[in-house]
Amino acid sequence: MRTLAREVDGLELPAVEKISASQQEDPFQILISTLLSARTQDATTLAASTRLFAKANTPEAVARLTVRQIEKLIFPVGFYRNKAVFVKETSKVLVEKFGGKVPGTLEKLVTLPGVGRKTANLVMILAFKSHDNICVDIHVHRISNRLGWVQTRTPEETEQALYRTLPQRWWPVVNQYLVTWGQNVCRPVYPRCQECRLITMCRRVGVS
Ligand code: SF4
Repeated sequence: MRTLAREVDGLELPAVEKISASQQEDPFQILISTLLSARTQDATTLAASTRLFAKANTPEAVARLTVRQIEKLIFPVGFYRNKAVFVKETSKVLVEKFGGKVPGTLEKLVTLPGVGRKTANLVMILAFKSHDNICVDIHVHRISNRLGWVQTRTPEETEQALYRTLPQRWWPVVNQYLVTWGQNVCRPVYPRCQECRLITMCRRVGVS
């Protein structure tokens, strides 16, 4: 993790981290941009979030938009039709059940439409500065297994395994480091092992 910290310094941040930094860690904008980011390129997520928040940047304002309006604003993020429904429904629930505020617990976050553990953990880390959560997406799952840190079949198993094996001081940053590494070096297909500074520490499980 110390080597990774040095290596990712200066590389481009993942989209949600960029949005978080530029929006003063606004929990609502972090929540919505994380919802939009699933199965979507970073540049597309960033552009879609920017268009949506220029039109409406509070739960009340987003809940007033129609699904069709949201679809047009977030297109072409992956699954934009489903995500438009989730964005509107989540905004409505925030207004109706949580006083227009994003709740600050994982248990409440996962009750929101379209919000799973990955999104909820990232919101806890970025918006609420939690040191008790690990956000595992497909990059964290893949690279943790390649490195040999865990032997797991799903991101959910990886999250639980990392709570057991990774020292807690690294929990809030492991997602940012491994997503950045996964986008630049340890890519899903053709990982750049010969240029990777982790090669002497990596078991390269499943990499031929
Ligand atoms: S050595 Fe290869 S498999 Fe291991 S972390 Fe680096 S790029 Fe990924």
